[in-house]
Amino acid sequence: MNILIVYAHPEPRSLNGSLKDFSIKRLEDAGHTVQVSDLYAMNWKASLDQDDSIDRPAGTRFDPSHESRLAFESGRQSQDIVLEQNKLRWADALILQFPLWWFSMPAILKGWVERVYAYGFAYGVGEHSDSHWGDRYGEGSMTGKRAMLIVTTGGWESHYGPRGINGPIDDVLFPIQHGILYYPGFDVLPPFVVYRTSRMDDERFLETCDKLGQRLDDLWNTNPIPYRQQNAGEYDIPECTLRPEIAPEQVGFAAHIA
Ligand code: FAD
Repeated sequence: MNILIVYAHPEPRSLNGSLKDFSIKRLEDAGHTVQVSDLYAMNWKASLDQDDSIDRPAGTRFDPSHESRLAFESGRQSQDIVLEQNKLRWADALILQFPLWWFSMPAILKGWVERVYAYGFAYGVGEHSDSHWGDRYGEGSMTGKRAMLIVTTGGWESHYGPRGINGPIDDVLFPIQHGILYYPGFDVLPPFVVYRTSRMDDERFLETCDKLGQRLDDLWNTNPIPYRQQNAGEYDIPECTLRPEIAPEQVGFAAHIA
């Protein structure tokens, strides 16, 4: 299988760097082909702006979605974006690996998503009408591919527990797992989270690698998070709201998991 790791940490000798090296070796030893987009090493441009389209008329008003669509459809996207989109087409599975920074991904990785996820490629896909609000949330360009997060946190596991002060980890990661990965059609596997990283030592590192290795071995037979599909009859369209009879007692993020 083809696996793309998009990795965001500025220091190769970090915990994240070691875990990334471990993952590459484990996957390659199992016979997979791995590509890594090491965003800091690539000096990835994080800001979405006018320079993302080639030959853009100077002085005209910049509309991010509209210009993303034009550039994607007319083959005028910046080459760094095209290369990453081709890696996504090639991949059977995507792994996003990062330290949790301010309850989300580092800005450089968010910038990868903003620029690579072009209109027509990751959003604005499929019919958009009052009866079909696009191919998204379970359908879209990434249908049939799997995705998983590898995340490290300073906070303890209890801080991210059901009543932990940081909010449950499933809620913290919901915008990434549901909003960024499920939206264009990935099957999203439960995340691999390493908590309380300041307490890492050689013994715990080996244990962590054992657990991570098992998750990588199981990449193709782990059940995805059962997010509800937008176009499978559980949502009213075009409101995109859960129908009243579906999980009537639930609100918020959890309501979108079957
Ligand atoms: P490192 O700092 O590189 O390593 C962590 C520990 O692991 C160190 O003790 C190191 O010696 C040890 N180690 C590294 N490699 C190995 C190895 N190969 N073998 C054995 N031991 C090893 N945390 C939260 O929970 N929530 C937040 O919102 C949050 N926001 C943050 C925002 C910013 C801007 C920053 C800088 C940090 C934030 N943190 C937050 C903490 C952050 O998530 C952790 O610092 C990070 O996950 C640690 O990962 P690292 O790769 O940088 O670890």
